[in-house]
Amino acid sequence: MDYEALSELLFPNITKTPEDYEKMYPPRKLPEGARVTRFAPSPTGYLHIGGLYGALTDVMTAKSTGGVSYLRIEDTDKKREVEDGVSAIIKGFNAFGVGFDEGVTVRGKEKGKYGPYTQSKREEIYKTVAKSLVKKGLAYPCFCTAEELTEMRSRQESEGTAIWGYFGKWAKCRDLTFDEIKAKIDAGMPYVLRFRAQGSEDKKIVFEDIIRGKIEMPENIIDEVLLKSDGIPTYHFAHVCDDHFMRTTHVIRGEEWISSVPKHIALFKACGFKAPKYAHTPQVMKIDEENGSKRKLSKRKDPEAAVSYFVEQGYPKESVLEYLMTLMNSNFEDWRRANPKADVFEFPFNLKKMSAAGCLFDLAKLNDVSKNVISVMNCEEVYDCVLKWAKNYDKELCKLFKKNPKYAKAILNIDRENPTPRKDIAKWSEVKDYVTYFYDDIYYPSFKMMPENITHEDAGKILKAYLAVYDENDNKEQWFDKIKGICEPLGFTPDVKEYKKNPDAFKGHVGDVSSVIRVALTSRANTPDLYMIMKLLGKQRVWERIALSANMLFYL
Ligand code: GLU
Repeated sequence: MDYEALSELLFPNITKTPEDYEKMYPPRKLPEGARVTRFAPSPTGYLHIGGLYGALTDVMTAKSTGGVSYLRIEDTDKKREVEDGVSAIIKGFNAFGVGFDEGVTVRGKEKGKYGPYTQSKREEIYKTVAKSLVKKGLAYPCFCTAEELTEMRSRQESEGTAIWGYFGKWAKCRDLTFDEIKAKIDAGMPYVLRFRAQGSEDKKIVFEDIIRGKIEMPENIIDEVLLKSDGIPTYHFAHVCDDHFMRTTHVIRGEEWISSVPKHIALFKACGFKAPKYAHTPQVMKIDEENGSKRKLSKRKDPEAAVSYFVEQGYPKESVLEYLMTLMNSNFEDWRRANPKADVFEFPFNLKKMSAAGCLFDLAKLNDVSKNVISVMNCEEVYDCVLKWAKNYDKELCKLFKKNPKYAKAILNIDRENPTPRKDIAKWSEVKDYVTYFYDDIYYPSFKMMPENITHEDAGKILKAYLAVYDENDNKEQWFDKIKGICEPLGFTPDVKEYKKNPDAFKGHVGDVSSVIRVALTSRANTPDLYMIMKLLGKQRVWERIALSANMLFYL
């Protein structure tokens, strides 16, 4: 077979050679040890939390080695593509401050010298490499129809062959002559371009996965499709061409690709390219609420599988990043303790320390991390973040906060700058519920949280007694002394220890008395510092609410 002639027949318009691209995309000049990584999503308009986790792994690997990370859009599967699917993904990254050094940015724009970074714009490159493979006798056109392939598959099934696919004696088009090929092409028959696999069934390849260690697998013997009948490359072929010419040193991708590595290594070899290092990351899992088993976070079942969920819920980006880092490297928490103020991207991330077992995403743990993150923000930061979130997701809260920023900040500042700051907010969507009682427009009193051990009659008496002594100018000590002062005449004790020693002697203790006042003012059993709350509510509202509660309790 005259492969040169075949390559001209198949690719008459391709005039470049891979060497031209070698010159166009020279090896990157980076310091020793610097890693070049990429995140390569399909433009599905959906960013899975596992995608953010993967992208963070890429970015951190590059950052911690002084290398480069880039974003490549893999849009060769038109069925999966949705309109504007790229910007939704980029928006997701931007929301969490995950930035790449190169690649696609927004609206078809890109930065970097190794582009285009969108696969649909790289047709000529793929065809040039494909042509060179044909020239070397390592790729050939296959005219088998979908029906023929289905038929082959069912024969393989019924014969019980160990391996299924297009290979060896099953590969009908492998040995077509030049004239046969030409006749089919002249007749307008559609065809795909296949790899002529060189591997043998009884040989193994061994490769080192950075996360999983040595992996041994049978060599690839399948004549994989390289270019589909419309000339678009398959993932396998595009991966090899792109990661070579973009000079990727480390391919970090989901574990579902491990089984394809023999194919990829064979392709790199056939093309004369050096294969990159591989690291296959574990899947993001969760514990199923119903049966307690571990399973993949699912786009269909779990709202938290989508990165947009965390934006909508109002998790600060730092919280999500911190939490993902703890999942990526178990020493992150120690590092954070030693460097409480450092930017998360300064963490010396190490791919090798990533665990190969599935990573377990737990919303409750994220909430804990987030409460810590928010607890060290000052009230200005919290105010700005809440407002920014509320602009898109809670117009009512936005309006209230904007109307009186000083008041809102004072509310957010209660118990904030303490040595042990409040840790009650995990996400901005919880803020409204915490602040309702500060805003008459959205506050409806409720007595549900009144302590159960106190009768309505006693609660009413407590409130009336308190109003008689309340003075808005009291300092905190005087304020508390007054609450203690009303205890005894009403059969309560100001001394909790005394109550514990002799509970039958009292109706309750000072804590119960304050709870009644707290519920009357806020309808809540737990709040930050009640003294500060009363200061902010102001005399008139304190009076109105306590008086109203005292009367209402009388009727309940
Ligand atoms: N486009 C592929 C995917 O979405 C990327 C795999 C890779 O990173 O190589 O799964």
